[in-house]
Amino acid sequence: MRILIADDSQTCRLILSTALKENSYDVLEKSDGLEAWVELCKPDAPQIAILDWVMPKLDGLELIQKVRTSKTDRPPYIIMLTGKSEKKDIIIGLNAGANDYLIKPFDPSELSARVEVGRRMIELQDALIKSKEELAYQATHDPLTGLFNRRAILDKLADEFKHANSENHMLCVGICDIDHFKRINDTYGHQTGDDILSKLSGILGEITTDTEHIGRIGGEEFLIVSSGGAESDVSSRFERYRRQIAETGIMTRSGAISISVSIGVSCCAGKSTADELLAAADAALYEAKSQGRNRIKYTRL
Ligand code: GH3
Ligand code: MG
Ligand code: MG
Repeated sequence: MRILIADDSQTCRLILSTALKENSYDVLEKSDGLEAWVELCKPDAPQIAILDWVMPKLDGLELIQKVRTSKTDRPPYIIMLTGKSEKKDIIIGLNAGANDYLIKPFDPSELSARVEVGRRMIELQDALIKSKEELAYQATHDPLTGLFNRRAILDKLADEFKHANSENHMLCVGICDIDHFKRINDTYGHQTGDDILSKLSGILGEITTDTEHIGRIGGEEFLIVSSGGAESDVSSRFERYRRQIAETGIMTRSGAISISVSIGVSCCAGKSTADELLAAADAALYEAKSQGRNRIKYTRL
């Protein structure tokens, strides 16, 4: 773990870094508060900082205040190490946002023990962030395909709607449904069906561009949200999906299986609602199915 030492006294930095390096910490030394601030703003900033109070350019107290008012998911653990030893100073330092306060001259083994407390706090913080990220991922992704789940893709659609309305640009949705999927399950078994769903998401993911989002909205139904672009390209944008899927044999535990999809597409430029757009795409999908499948039907609202 990396530790930042900010102290204008070279001797103090040397004693500190020697003690920390003995405990296998990776030490970064800075001699004023401004340089320390620059380090703490970097994306890979040290997670523990030992700060002197009286320093040139930016003092330790001002530095802590800046750090604590900046928005971050990973705030550093800050130990204030200073000659200011009065109770009121300790209170000011802690109230400003220091996690711990040590008075110079310090005992190296006490310092090491306090840094260890910081390390444990940082590890706990990292574990919490990781589990929060995992939960956020699980709440927004479909476990079988790894694509956005129904709620997440509908949220994306709502976001894109706001954007499209404010910019007055085109927004299209395509509901893409595997043709005769029940028959595949009945012929090869449900697990083979699952293989197809999970491999199909890889094919869809490869086709998707930066202006498109894709999610699984039902069993064998996917929603493609495509924003911007010219109205004249709409059919070719969705045709890429249909053609690529029809042309790619999907490798499953029962061997390579060819599938096709039908896609119902609807587009609008302002005025409509997400529900209207989805209902129109659903109606277009129904039409594509009834006209023989493996095709795209398009509606403009
Ligand atoms: P169509 O061409 O009209 O869409 O016919 P279809 O057979 O694809 O449509 P239908 O709605 O009759 O059947 C959908 C099938 O998808 C039935 C269901 O068992 C299957 N299915 C839904 N979710 C999953 C899943 O997670 N895994 C597997 N293996 N099958 C699924
Ligand atoms: Mg189907
Ligand atoms: Mg279906």
